[in-house]
Amino acid sequence: MAEEPKDTKPGFQNPVAGFGVTFKAMFKKRLTEQYPEQQKTTAPRFHGRHQLNRHPDGLEKCVGCELCAWACPADAIYVEGADNTDEERYSPGERYGRVYQINYARCILCGLCIEACPTRALTMTNEFELADSSRANLIYTKEQLLAGLEEGMVDAPHAIYPGTDEQDYYRGLVTEAAPGTEPQVAHSKGEVVQESDSTFGGTEPASEKVIGR
Ligand code: SF4
Ligand code: SF4
Repeated sequence: MAEEPKDTKPGFQNPVAGFGVTFKAMFKKRLTEQYPEQQKTTAPRFHGRHQLNRHPDGLEKCVGCELCAWACPADAIYVEGADNTDEERYSPGERYGRVYQINYARCILCGLCIEACPTRALTMTNEFELADSSRANLIYTKEQLLAGLEEGMVDAPHAIYPGTDEQDYYRGLVTEAAPGTEPQVAHSKGEVVQESDSTFGGTEPASEKVIGR
């Protein structure tokens, strides 16, 4: 059995040595951050909350292929694709992501999903304040993840730019919605359309969320 090292210092020196550590720390640079009062800027490529991007005319880039869900090591993504129709078109091609959810109780923000996305529909923002006390609130829906509308965009569903096809969107030939583009009003898939659905942060009843594992 190994012998315990002997304390060679006289007993009265131990408390003094302890205060010495405190004394030296008083002159070191303070590391305390006044969060959340003072927000710190993240690194530009920090992996934060995801975003589902749009084409310049407002149509969605997601084609519902599920590659992001298959790439995810934490099984945090749930996608259901559906067919576009001329009456209800969300993306320029054949398919779009009808249901899209990310469970932030599982996500480890590794970024493998955005690497797997073939259309750059899925990217990550610098937003890191994702904590919540409810598991249901940690499941972000498509409406929460979808990018907001910028100038020149019209909210989907709507028709593609006249005289173009899906390839033209990826060649960068569509730069804004065609003049007179109107959102289509079609609820053929049985979705419950709510006022809050088009706004980031809108809440969806937990019962309508699919993943809660
Ligand atoms: S960042 Fe990683 S863990 Fe989170 S959803 Fe994407 S692949 Fe899954
Ligand atoms: S985000 Fe990208 S990888 Fe995921 S379903 Fe949509 S298009 Fe496919």
